[in-house]
Amino acid sequence: MSEQKFIIDKKEFLPGQSGVVKLSVGNLPSDTKINILAHIFRAVTPGPTTLILAGVHGDEINGIEIVRRLLMHHRFNNIQAGNLIVIPLLNIYGFITFNRYVPDGKDVNRSFPGTSIGSLASRIARSLTKHILPLVDYIFDFHTGGDSRYNYPQIRYTRNDTRAFDLAKVFSPPFIIESGVISKSLRKTAKEMNIPMLIYEGGESVRLNNSVISQGYNGILRCLTYLGYIEEQNLMEANHKILLFKKTTWLRASFSGIFLWSQKSGAKIYKGEKLGSINDPNGQKSISVITKKDGYLIGHNNASVVNQGDALFHIGYDIDEIL
Ligand SMILES: [Zn+2]
Repeated sequence: MSEQKFIIDKKEFLPGQSGVVKLSVGNLPSDTKINILAHIFRAVTPGPTTLILAGVHGDEINGIEIVRRLLMHHRFNNIQAGNLIVIPLLNIYGFITFNRYVPDGKDVNRSFPGTSIGSLASRIARSLTKHILPLVDYIFDFHTGGDSRYNYPQIRYTRNDTRAFDLAKVFSPPFIIESGVISKSLRKTAKEMNIPMLIYEGGESVRLNNSVISQGYNGILRCLTYLGYIEEQNLMEANHKILLFKKTTWLRASFSGIFLWSQKSGAKIYKGEKLGSINDPNGQKSISVITKKDGYLIGHNNASVVNQGDALFHIGYDIDEIL
């Protein structure tokens, strides 16, 4: 798309030009203006345009921190070809209220492609769909588990998208998960626009995790090297095998009470194995949580108290080992 003029919300960037675009998405009840900041980096040499995005869910701080570190370390300032659009924080409303959603309780990632006269979440989605996505060839979107759920570092991509799968292998997370698309998600809109998209999931909302941040930071730099943006001399090698999971399932609580896990994300598990227990506060009952599947724990719930039906362990299975 580099042959086209590079214009975002009426602001044109010429080859070699960088800067920041403020996308107005509304105002707080105090009349404080809310602007999403998009950092633009253009090389003189034509090449692909990549969107690096975080904070679609405002309380998923690991992703925001990965992108912040990349910006602070000036990793994008001397790209050799193409264009980067870097948005460290999409859902400003959620960020300032420590919340996944916008103030009306809607999820930005269930509001795509959005409308300019819809709910707050829909307006944020529309801004990205209208001003950014038409320019973009690749999307990297950084997330964590929702609520108290911890995700082992993993890339998710849309099944049968071979370009995304190739990039996922270059990113080299411990786990890669292929899946279908969820209605009204950014990934669904990206699929409809034929844009390969990787979602990096790591850690838990609100909390920072240095290992998760470091793996995401190095993964995106590997991909930017592969796509011809940068030349990296000192990239940390991924010193683990990569596992691809073609299917996933949640193991849910059959009982309510105090939840104690004994296996956690990243662990290999075997059918019949005890993964934890749920305990009543009076010390009368302790119910074992047993897996009915072989696989790996790709996520687990860190909640201390759970209700029946709550998601406890996210299990990945139907595994390919990628060398
Ligand atoms: Zn998220």
